[in-house]
Order: sequence, then structure tokens, then C-alpha cells
Amino acid sequence: MVTAQAARLLTPEEIAVQAGQQVPFLRLPDPATLFAEREARLRTLAAGHATRDFLLFAAELTRAQHALLQRYPELPTPDAQAIEAAAQAGRPPLPALHWPRDAAWRRGLHDLLDELLPRLVGSPALGVVQALRAQGDAALEQQADRLLSRTMRGLDLGAAPLIAAALQVYWTALVLQTEATRLGGRPAPFGRTDDETRCPCCGSHPTASISRIGADVSGYRYLHCSLCAAQWHMVRVKCAACRGTKGIGYQSLEALPGHALPATGAARDAVQAETCDVCSHYLKIVHMAKDAHVDPVADDLASVTLDLLVSDAGFQRQGVNLLLLFGDPEAPPDPPPAP
Ligand SMILES: [Zn+2]
Ligand SMILES: [Zn+2]
Repeated sequence: MVTAQAARLLTPEEIAVQAGQQVPFLRLPDPATLFAEREARLRTLAAGHATRDFLLFAAELTRAQHALLQRYPELPTPDAQAIEAAAQAGRPPLPALHWPRDAAWRRGLHDLLDELLPRLVGSPALGVVQALRAQGDAALEQQADRLLSRTMRGLDLGAAPLIAAALQVYWTALVLQTEATRLGGRPAPFGRTDDETRCPCCGSHPTASISRIGADVSGYRYLHCSLCAAQWHMVRVKCAACRGTKGIGYQSLEALPGHALPATGAARDAVQAETCDVCSHYLKIVHMAKDAHVDPVADDLASVTLDLLVSDAGFQRQGVNLLLLFGDPEAPPDPPPAP
């Protein structure tokens, strides 16, 4: 296991921030690559993996998400007044829990299921998809409410990843279309909010962090939104739950004796758990410098063993992965909650 022996030294990123250097705060997803690259990553990680079938199912779902996003219809977006009001209140303008979802998300779900169905012949997931395809509007809206508010009571566990996938595409399209209103000279819709541990666009929890490479962001850490896929900057070596900077440690599977590592050629320490001794939460971080193809969602799904290890050590998971939280019948179990 790796601990943060250098935690008290300033990182180059912190020095840059303290020197007033501009770090791009927000990175919105690229619709052409977001789900396509995630699908490719899932297929790479699935090879020889203990949860291969689950990762391949997630890859099929992600493939359908990509197809859906390419043809998403125009959505109602907040007007300038609503954006201004959210900014004044320090709140995200498209809150997952309160935004009036357009019926387009349900049509999107049906498209997604239709895309998926012919590719699931012989799969245990086929029945779940067919049953969901037959659900009425009110039932779907109720399931979406439960999923977004993380209400386990009455949630259809088998259908949850499919509904979540449709909601992810809807919110990604909504964020991108809202951002596009800037072209008409409107104010920037997204900026810093009062809670830097939540997505500044939709207020959702992050899935994981990513430390990026690239000219203007090299080494900078971004949190990846579990719903809309926006990434927002937070300095490294800082707890993404309590915002503390003391007692931060890092664990990876690298040094676990006898642990079977994925036979993918993926860098062994590309995924770590950033743990906080103060609030006992952890959030995974994926490092592009170790493997340029890491994806916060895909690499999280493929590293459940790390969750088990860190949970055993008494830490509670902070990251939300809508495709894993409730799982399909073949999904690996959720990491147990910390005592
Ligand atoms: Zn978001
Ligand atoms: Zn903490």
C-alpha cells in the first residue's frame, strides 16, 4: 500500500493556485468521445477480469448511451433569470433532485433499451430490459426520483442501472445545451457553487477524481460528476468529503501480496483510493499520467477489490457510480458500509 508521505509538501498544482495562475475550473464532456472512450476502456478492462461479464454488459450499455447522445433532441434549458438566481444563491442551475425533467429522458430510455435489446440475446439481462420496456410513464418517473434521491426503498434494483444510464445521457445533453446558450450572448451558466464537493452543474456526487495530463491542466485533479459527467477542479491531497487536508492517505492494489491484477497491461497504480483519517471517507482517483486511457466510471467499476480493501480498513465510500450502486443480477456486490 502507498501512503501519502509527501502530503505536507505543496504540490505543483497548489503552488500554481497560490501564485494566482488560472486553473480551468470546469471541463464539460465532449459528446463525441465521452461514452465512446468509456466503452473502449470497459472492453479493455474486461479482458481476463473476474467480473468480465458485468464489465461487458456495462460496455454495451455505454455503447447505447453514445448512440443516444449523438441524436438527442433540443431540451428546455433555464433562462437567464434562473441562471442568475442560481448563481446568486451559490447553487447549481440544473439540480438533479429538483430540475423538472423533460419527457425526452423517457423517450431516450426507450431508444436506449431498443438499441440494447438485439445485443443481449441469451443474456440474463434480457428479461430485465424487456420488463422495463413495458413500464408506464408514472412508474419510470417514480423510479427516476428514487434513483436520484438515492432512496433504496421501492427501487427496482435490476432496472436501476438502465434508468441511470438514460438519466446520465439526458443530464449530459442538458448541461451541453445549457452551455451552448452562451453563444447567444447569455451569461456563463456554470461556475463555482457553495459546495465544492458536489457538481457545479447538477449538484450530484462525484464518481471519482481524475488527475489529468495536457497542456493547461497537467497534474491537476478534477472530480468527475456521477450524473452529467462534468469535471470540476479541486486541488490534490484534499478530502473531497470534508475538505480537510490533514490525514490524507493513498491506497492501491499495487503492493497487495498475491492479488491477481488485471491482465490488461493497464498500469497497476493508475487507480488509487484517497482516504481521509479525519472523516473516514475515501474517493478513488485515476491517474492519466500512469495510463492515458483511464476513465473515472470504467476504472471504478473494474476496481471493486480496492473498495473491499479500503472498506475493511474502516473507510466509507464517497463516490457514486450509478451503474454499480445497485447492480444488475451479475454485478459485483456493493462495498459494505463502514461500521
Ligand atoms: Zn453534474
Ligand atoms: Zn475527510
